[in-house]
Amino acid sequence: HGSNSLQPLETTISDMERFKDSSNLELHCPNCSQQFVFGGVIASNFYQMCYNGLQCKKCEHIFTPIQLSCQLESIIRAHISLYYAGWLVCDDMTCGNVTRQISVFGKRCLNEGCTGVMRYRYSDKQLYNQLLYFESLFDCAKNKKQELKAVYYEGDKDYPKEKLSESSVMVLTEQNRELFEINRAVIEKYLSNCGRRYVDMGGIFDFMTN
Ligand SMILES: [Zn+2]
Ligand SMILES: [Zn+2]
Repeated sequence: HGSNSLQPLETTISDMERFKDSSNLELHCPNCSQQFVFGGVIASNFYQMCYNGLQCKKCEHIFTPIQLSCQLESIIRAHISLYYAGWLVCDDMTCGNVTRQISVFGKRCLNEGCTGVMRYRYSDKQLYNQLLYFESLFDCAKNKKQELKAVYYEGDKDYPKEKLSESSVMVLTEQNRELFEINRAVIEKYLSNCGRRYVDMGGIFDFMTN
């Protein structure tokens, strides 16, 4: 099957569903060290997108493009090394055995008496989705349509005090287009290295139906 056969599957899944297990993009301000979750052009108590970039609300420092893309790249590398570390975890909740050792009995848990099955803690599906999630944060069209996975929910202690109007989202996204494209290119580099998107279509199809 060609790449087009995937289109309906890819597009019928909302970002909310597809990225439900993906980790947030946690950044820190290079000036005051405040840590915060970056969720795209959204309202946040910790940062704002201004006309010339990403601004820390605590100290008003504006990230240089390189400060943002370097943090993004080191976070991507951390996720990739976690994946390559190959940790296995027992799927029996009462056991929770974590190891890098693969049993001679295949996927069986090595803890005595446990009937659990060892699974990769960080699967290729998760890594792929994680990269796609990061990419979505810098996707201008998705930002404008406000289709990104929510990072704050009503009732959270960090739920933003102020809202961001639809027109502000449109304008700020457009003003930061170049910055967002730089970061997308960083992610694209790893996505295409990962290869799955372009060559292993069969593999993608498999994990989506499993
Ligand atoms: Zn700061
Ligand atoms: Zn076990």
